[in-house]
Amino acid sequence: MKSTLNHKAYKVELKPTSEQIQIIERTIGVCRYVYNLFIAANRDNYRSGSQGYMLGYDFSKWLNNEYRKSNSDKSWIWEVSSKAVKKSIMNADTAYKNFLKGRTGFPNFKRRNGRPVSMYLPRNNAGDLKIERHRAKIPTLGWLRIKEYGYVPYTPQALSVTITKRAGRYFASFLFEMSNAKSISAAQSESVGIDLGVKSFAVISDGRNYPNINKSSKTRKLIRRLKREQRKFSRKIQKLKQRKEETASKKCKRSNLDKQRLKVQQAYMRLSNKRHDYINKTVHEIVNARPEYITIEDLSVSGMLKNRHLSRAIAECEFYYFRELLERKCREYGIQLRIANRFYASSKTCSRCGHEKKDLKLSDRVYECTECGLVIDRDYNAALNLRSCKKFCTAG
Ligand SMILES: [Zn+2]
Repeated sequence: MKSTLNHKAYKVELKPTSEQIQIIERTIGVCRYVYNLFIAANRDNYRSGSQGYMLGYDFSKWLNNEYRKSNSDKSWIWEVSSKAVKKSIMNADTAYKNFLKGRTGFPNFKRRNGRPVSMYLPRNNAGDLKIERHRAKIPTLGWLRIKEYGYVPYTPQALSVTITKRAGRYFASFLFEMSNAKSISAAQSESVGIDLGVKSFAVISDGRNYPNINKSSKTRKLIRRLKREQRKFSRKIQKLKQRKEETASKKCKRSNLDKQRLKVQQAYMRLSNKRHDYINKTVHEIVNARPEYITIEDLSVSGMLKNRHLSRAIAECEFYYFRELLERKCREYGIQLRIANRFYASSKTCSRCGHEKKDLKLSDRVYECTECGLVIDRDYNAALNLRSCKKFCTAG
């Protein structure tokens, strides 16, 4: 039976006090330590050729009994939220299971300056997780100020919260269980096809065109800044390596490196926020018109991804982020999302007479039909074809 409830997360930036920062840092540190301990224990099992592996549940028991007894110096593990530690173990368990199923490589250890580590806190009782206009009450941390007023809903009560540190800032993601009331609403506008591309980010069959923001001067400025900070960072690493060979002490140099790393992370976050905001806005506008269905092409076989010269430009556009968000929103609004069959030539087919132009090149920006004489923008032609495409599967 399909549940009528779905989960929705709201993310906001927090303004923790210095005491709260200490608790967060300590908890995140323990979560990272325990995550790595799980991976290390199973790596040793795996290397010794043993077939079995220690499940997250068993690991948790081992940690709280045997490990605790023989490691009295590690008492700080039990000084933070046990729920957060438990979640970190289960995350490691999932990562390891994915490896065993052949989905991913061997799970990496989490490094202090690597990918952000999160701290998960579930609601324990009615009173310990609350949201108000400008502040939120979070288990073990108490009241915290939030930066965006009124964005997170006050009701229903959030189920849990995950706190992440990124580029020196703290973010909370509140998880809610929402009823699917929106999905009952009927279609309000014509169905659309969407052609994704590098020239224009998205061309819609109703004539709307969303340009590629990576070409706008503001975004290019952010890209240049990120590259500059990255260059500075690698230069600093080089210098540090040279010095290491000459002298012994370089404590102060280390802190310079940390500062520069933070600058890289901040520049990266500004850029990715800009791109994601743009995609959020685009998806919101498309979905808000409530078309009966939306057809997009199958990204995995899209000609663009096969073109090596374009692969960087494509990474910048974040089509997968778009696809995921569109899928989620369509499910929420009850809109059918169609994925065109991988052999459907949406770009090469004439949207008026159906003739297929086999020799269309990626550089041909205008589609000229040799059969019926139609002259039309290439991406717009593809969007029209996607709208009328009859060979598709449905997503979500
Ligand atoms: Zn034609």
